[in-house]
Amino acid sequence: MKLILLGAPGAGKGTVAKLLTEMDGSVQISTGDILRAAVKAGTELGKKAEAAMKAGELVSDDLIMGIMGERLKEDDCKAGFLLDGFPRTIPQADALKGLLENMGIKLDAVVNLVVPREEILNRLTTRRTCVDCGAIYNVRSNPPKEEGVCDKCGGDVVQRDDETEEAISKRLDVFNEQTAPLVEYYRNEGNLLDADSTNSSNVVDVIKKELGV
Ligand code: ADP
Ligand code: ZN
Repeated sequence: MKLILLGAPGAGKGTVAKLLTEMDGSVQISTGDILRAAVKAGTELGKKAEAAMKAGELVSDDLIMGIMGERLKEDDCKAGFLLDGFPRTIPQADALKGLLENMGIKLDAVVNLVVPREEILNRLTTRRTCVDCGAIYNVRSNPPKEEGVCDKCGGDVVQRDDETEEAISKRLDVFNEQTAPLVEYYRNEGNLLDADSTNSSNVVDVIKKELGV
């Protein structure tokens, strides 16, 4: 399947994407994961993105479109892709539209993951991420078996730099200003699918039902 997963930080985009990849071999493309890997590896891209990410602000549209223009051309996307954290601004959505048209690709749906703000705050402050494989844990509801160690790959499970209270509040403001308008953008395009994401498996059920898979 070819989907965009839209939703606030902490809405469960990554979790839903992982559940879906297990279903049909579609590849999860997370701009956040790509950027974090670049920062960790100390590449040019990482150096350009690091400060904005740490502050909870967005990386420039040009940088993101450079990454995604390349990424969507890779072979593994032919089986389907789940865009997690992209597009995040109207200019990115416009650029993506042109890119997909040029490639002759049609999206199956844009899924809007809806979660109450209070639940979002609760999730983000308790979320922990594996630095090596990106697996997501929660200290309250889904801790790794051994504290700080990834069940899947043995990597370090940590709180992200942008998950301090200050950066979280900044990321939510940035989301409301720059990304939330994409909900109406895609509703107008006619392919928006709203899904209650208080429970990630509910989102998967809504998608399966809509796409008939
Ligand atoms: P979350 O969805 O939990 O906020 P992500 O892992 O998607 O986090 O992104 C982390 C950070 O990476 C963002 O706060 C932003 O700085 C940067 N980033 C990721 N995707 C984009 C994008 N499409 N456009 C601009 N910046 C991005
Ligand atoms: Zn891991």
